[in-house]
Amino acid sequence: MSFDSLGLRAELLRAIDQQGYTEPTPVQHKAIPVVLAGKDVMASAQTGTGKTAAFTLPLLQRLSVQGGPHRLRALILTPTRELAAQVHENLRGYARHLQIRSAEIFGGVNINPQISKLQRGVDVLIATPGRLIDHIERGTVDLRQVETLILDEADRMLDMGFRPAIDRVVKALPRQRQTLLFSATFSKEITEMASRYLNQPVRVETAPPNSTVELIAQKAVLVDQKQKREVLSWMIGSENWHQVLVFTRTKHGANRLAKQLESDGLTAAAIHGNKSQGARTKALADFKANRVRVLVATDIAARGLDIDQLPHVVNFEIPNVPEDYVHRIGRTGRAGREGLAISLVCGAEHGLFEDIRKLVKVKIPTETLEGYEPTEPLSRDAGKQSRGNQGRQARSGPGRGSNAGQKPKAGASRPGQRRRSGRGQARKAA
Ligand code: AMP
Repeated sequence: MSFDSLGLRAELLRAIDQQGYTEPTPVQHKAIPVVLAGKDVMASAQTGTGKTAAFTLPLLQRLSVQGGPHRLRALILTPTRELAAQVHENLRGYARHLQIRSAEIFGGVNINPQISKLQRGVDVLIATPGRLIDHIERGTVDLRQVETLILDEADRMLDMGFRPAIDRVVKALPRQRQTLLFSATFSKEITEMASRYLNQPVRVETAPPNSTVELIAQKAVLVDQKQKREVLSWMIGSENWHQVLVFTRTKHGANRLAKQLESDGLTAAAIHGNKSQGARTKALADFKANRVRVLVATDIAARGLDIDQLPHVVNFEIPNVPEDYVHRIGRTGRAGREGLAISLVCGAEHGLFEDIRKLVKVKIPTETLEGYEPTEPLSRDAGKQSRGNQGRQARSGPGRGSNAGQKPKAGASRPGQRRRSGRGQARKAA
């Protein structure tokens, strides 16, 4: 199956060829003809499935057919600045042989250049909801002629509390339009939102990328929460890993861990929603250029970042949502490269990790490290325990000063062991 049979025009096929794509991915295969036919689409597709091209290619085709002066005809909403920038970069690549003008607008940067760009006239706007509202309020964007609305990673936008902002944006759009909704999951909220914004949508379902997951070497290390950071430093140092992407659940946790890794002698940077755009861009550039060895990220910040094919991904904390695990580890081992995804699982995360095991349907071997054998009781009650434990994790202090690569001492006595078992009992009773 090649791209030729999808009904795309020659300029787009040339651009696709230049990107080096030889055949459409399943979501592209299913969605492109439906979008070209002008229908609304509700697609389940995760990062890494080729979803961006699945909506961008037919969108560009529809926009280019009419020609004429540049006026805002398509709006793509994304949850994060990084994703907006990345979608825009992809779109520019596919539009290279077409006369299409595009712009990205997101917060954290000066608004004035965005205003000038909008004034000069664009065909496609890629925006995060917050900054778009800002432009709507200032009267610097006119959405009245938008023909296509695309909600990218709609589930994330809802998770991030953008529902009211999206409602406001949609009110400013013409009722008569094409709407495409892409989401990794179809929760009740997503389905409800789709029933309000979409008109008889065609559902496009693609299997979760379990096949990708099967290609990635995965393992879990059972370790107490308090020992995680020491174990992480030791693994990175002793295995001589470079370019390690580490996931934490909270922004605060990401900051703290990056600092601790630095004090262990590893170059590290944190990337999350509270960081300025400049700081995020720099951290990513340093990481890509091997100036920073460990990038510590929250799920939201890492989402949509163009940093796949990494050799090592570590789940410092297990995600609350099992699907996030798939997103996280999908960063490694792409395109036949070797990759290793390691999860550090503490007692309270045991139930969550079991849920993940069920989702990915592959055996994830579990091990303990000598000198770091876990003492915490195992929780089976996934959601409740792990959320209840978040505050505790955030408060628990770092392990005693370790150095990267320093071997754990077999049978080393660990301060706080008694306190931990006491806390464990309290947790069980809760
Ligand atoms: P996405 O899911 O849109 O984030 O895309 C994931 C990656 O797959 C991006 O790096 C794309 O450039 C790449 N990609 C998209 N479509 C194809 C295709 N048909 N063949 C090969 N790579 C693709």
